[in-house]
Amino acid sequence: MSLPEDVARTYQIAEHAIAKIKTNELGAFPPNYEIWFAYAAGFNPALNKRINEILRAGERVSQDELEKIREEFFGAGSFEERVDAVGGQLSGKVSEIMDLINEAAGQTSGYSDELQDASKNLDGVVDEQVVQAIVQKLITMTDEVERSSRSMSNKLLESEQEIAALKEALESVRYEAMTDQLTGIGNRKRFDRAMDEAMLSSEATGEPFSLLVCDIDHFKKFNDTHGHQTGDQVLRLVGSTVKSSVSSKDIACRYGGEEFCVILPSTKIGRATDMANVIRQAVMGKELVKRSTGETLGRVTISIGVAELREDDSVQSIIERADKCLYAAKEAGRNRVVAEAELEANEKAA
Ligand code: GH3
Ligand code: MG
Ligand code: MG
Repeated sequence: MSLPEDVARTYQIAEHAIAKIKTNELGAFPPNYEIWFAYAAGFNPALNKRINEILRAGERVSQDELEKIREEFFGAGSFEERVDAVGGQLSGKVSEIMDLINEAAGQTSGYSDELQDASKNLDGVVDEQVVQAIVQKLITMTDEVERSSRSMSNKLLESEQEIAALKEALESVRYEAMTDQLTGIGNRKRFDRAMDEAMLSSEATGEPFSLLVCDIDHFKKFNDTHGHQTGDQVLRLVGSTVKSSVSSKDIACRYGGEEFCVILPSTKIGRATDMANVIRQAVMGKELVKRSTGETLGRVTISIGVAELREDDSVQSIIERADKCLYAAKEAGRNRVVAEAELEANEKAA
């Protein structure tokens, strides 16, 4: 089987990159690999010049140097951002390949064709070179199987494990990037992403979603009275209560500070309001106990604003309406839910 020339080239570049990682005694982690792949491919002359200067001075490129190079040429912290952006697509493609491997176990004929197809399907994936390199490795292995099926099955297993590890690493980076460190529920980034998805899905299905914006009442006073650490404990409790009060298809996130948002897919305002009340009562129902001393601290309450998607809505406009309802709930005395219909009726009456 002969490889398309451009594909064979990515394979050569990958080998070259790995060789460089080894001679410089670096870990072959994805962020390192990315730099050396770019170097081996010659994508960025300035990057190559910088690395060549170090190598010419007879030195190894240390991990510290590599971090500096990453900041200079790839933007600080941007690897995770990019992993986050492409990780979904990438791991999706890797899953497809793994499915192919599983299907092909025991019936290797046609396998290389399928892999070739999979490789073509990778067009448009941003980290294409990385996946291409993996797929090419598999294709080469398939070639070998035609000669020796036993060594193939071992190698296939090895490569399946490598891919599984890569996939797991990608998933965990993505998961971490979307999780609020204090409460363990989705963070602002997860919320922003989920709102975009909910908008798209509503456009496609014509079904509205609803949004709840929840805010702890008088939390500043609670913090001032009991201390920031106890405040943090309360944030964790409220976060987990909000999340456990809704179903797994609903998305509960910490929007920031002491505010939590819930996206309720395919949910109209009436049901959303009922759910908001369930959450409000669940929070109110928790007796707070200071962990360090066992002292009882009473309860906290939350106020919630509810809005349902309208046809001309943007992400921002629906959030603004829910926020306005939240504000009205605070004004009306806190520990309550205000939905936009109710708000509008009151506005008209006034
Ligand atoms: P309201 O009922 O009107 O919402 O009053 P409030 O005191 O809850 O609102 P305000 O916005 O004045 O205060 C919010 C407080 O939330 C301020 C800050 O002390 C607290 N807070 C925000 N983020 C954190 C956090 O991560 N940990 C802790 N412990 N407190 C936080
Ligand atoms: Mg607030
Ligand atoms: Mg508050």
